[in-house]
Amino acid sequence: MLDRFGRPVKSIRVSVTERCNLACFYCHREGEWHIHREEMSPEEIERILKIARELDIRKVKFTGGEPLVREDFVDIVARAAKYMDKDISLTTNGTLLKNFAEDLKKVGVRRVNVSLDTLDRRKYERITGRDSLNDVIDGVYAAMNAGMIPVKLNVVVLRGINDDELENMIYFSADTGAILQLIELEVPLERENSEFFKKYHVDLSDFERYISKMAEKVEYNELHRRKRYSLKINDKRATVEFVRSMHNTSFCMNCTRIRLTSDGKLKPCLLRNDNLVDLLTPLRKGASDDELKKLFKQAILLREPYWR
Ligand code: SAM
Repeated sequence: MLDRFGRPVKSIRVSVTERCNLACFYCHREGEWHIHREEMSPEEIERILKIARELDIRKVKFTGGEPLVREDFVDIVARAAKYMDKDISLTTNGTLLKNFAEDLKKVGVRRVNVSLDTLDRRKYERITGRDSLNDVIDGVYAAMNAGMIPVKLNVVVLRGINDDELENMIYFSADTGAILQLIELEVPLERENSEFFKKYHVDLSDFERYISKMAEKVEYNELHRRKRYSLKINDKRATVEFVRSMHNTSFCMNCTRIRLTSDGKLKPCLLRNDNLVDLLTPLRKGASDDELKKLFKQAILLREPYWR
């Protein structure tokens, strides 16, 4: 289905919990700023994905909070696999991934993004509040060994914290075979002039230019139409992508995703909370598939490019 701007909606990003075992100081919490403890059951998530599939949405990315803190997460993925036949992925902080990678792959997870902002143990603790760097690195290797392809490393670049580590991260990408995704800090428009944003935001355009000159090959990531740079490092290969969404009109125009909050509301945009459409309350009150589909369509029609 197309939104009012002619953009097809092809994927859904489902937050399964707002609970997290880390406390990254910069986290946007997937735009869920209202505190709630309500979570959808695996059956409820399955029902919503079944409706999504009827609207030809066939890709899901699970997120949170931290999806792997949910004990029933493998069950949630197994249920999703009945409807999301084009792609199932998740974004995780990786701290628990080692224990789940094999099972997740078996039930249908194709690929994974692991958040890894630094390779320095003390910095990792400073950013996340926990000394878990080694667990995350084990998780990255476990995902590779389980055959999740690609494994992407999400690195939010933060001024004065990890902006001196980008080269190291490129070497790590070459060593592991994971794709490096360098992400600019993102905030809603009203926080752009905040001290926080000014202090930590790094504009990655110069670094992207530098990498583009060194790259042996440039491809396009078909999902987001971003450039993907391939660099030769000794006899290995590192792959680097940049996510620069602030004021990026083409980022928004190419957005084909709708979100579902962990308390069951459709969310047309990460950076907005004024146009949510509650699915879970009607679902719990016995709404029919047709009624839920109508609400889904309503949310799709509320989608607007944030940056334009
Ligand atoms: N706990 C999971 C994880 O760590 O991947 C899923 C939730 S986390 C919010 C999803 C991704 O959003 C992470 O890769 C994180 O680094 C990124 N992220 C969080 N806050 C951000 C911000 N303000 N700007 C850009 N990316 C951010």
